[in-house]
Amino acid sequence: MTEKLISYLQKNKFENLDLRAVLFDMDGIIYDSMPAHDKSWRQTMQEWNLKLEPSESFIQEGRPARLMINMVFQRNLKRDATEQEVKDIYKRKTELFFEHDTGALIPGIQETIKIVKTNGLIPILVTGSGQTGLWERLNGDLPNVFTPETMVTAFEVEIGKPHPEPYLMGLEKAGNLKPNQAVVIENAPLGVESAHKANIFTIAVNTGPIPDHILLDAGADLLMDSLDSLNSVLPKLFQMTETIKI
Ligand code: MG
Repeated sequence: MTEKLISYLQKNKFENLDLRAVLFDMDGIIYDSMPAHDKSWRQTMQEWNLKLEPSESFIQEGRPARLMINMVFQRNLKRDATEQEVKDIYKRKTELFFEHDTGALIPGIQETIKIVKTNGLIPILVTGSGQTGLWERLNGDLPNVFTPETMVTAFEVEIGKPHPEPYLMGLEKAGNLKPNQAVVIENAPLGVESAHKANIFTIAVNTGPIPDHILLDAGADLLMDSLDSLNSVLPKLFQMTETIKI
C-alpha cells in the first residue's frame, strides 16, 4: 500500500496526502443496485429485439442513457435511436428498475462509513443518479451520514462521469478541498476515470462481474474485491497518509 500512495503522490506532484473527506459513489458502492440496472437494461433491449454485450451495463455504468442506447443501436442497427425511441426505452428501463431493485445495501458499507467518521473525515456522495427523494432514502438507510449539502447528484452536474466534473464538485462541497485532501471509493470504470482525472487517490472496489484490469486501466490507484476487504485495510491506509511524504 505504501508504494501505491507514493506512486500517486509522485504522479500528481503532491508532497503528501492531507485527508479531510471520502467521496463515495452510490450504485455498486452504497446500494447493491447494479444487478437490477443490468436486468432492466437487458429486459428492455430484449423487448426491442436488441442485443447487449455481456457485462455491458456494468462496463458502461454512469454513461448517460441516451449515449448507452445509441451505442446499442449503432451496433445492432447501424443507426442512432430517434428521440422517441430514447424516451420510450429509458422510460421502460426505469419502470423495470423499480420493479427489480431490492434496495439492499452493499455488505460492509455501514462499517466503511463508521471508519471514515471515526477518522474525522467527511463522507460526500458523488452520483450520476437523479432519483427523486434520494436524500430521504439515503438518510433512512444510513442515518445522519449525508445531507443535501454533501451530495453531488445528476441535478447539479452538467457533464457527468467519466469527466472529472462530478468529483471536482465533490471536493468543492467538502469545503473547497484540493485533490490530495480526499479519496474516492468507486466501482465503475467511468467513475474511476472521472476520479482519476480529478487527480484524487481512487480506490476501486470491484463489486460486479467485470475483470479487474478494466478498473486498473481506468486509473484505479488501489483495487479491492469487496468493501469488507477494504474495511480491513482502511484504518491503516488513513494512518499511513499522515506519515508518508515525498
Ligand atoms: Mg457505481
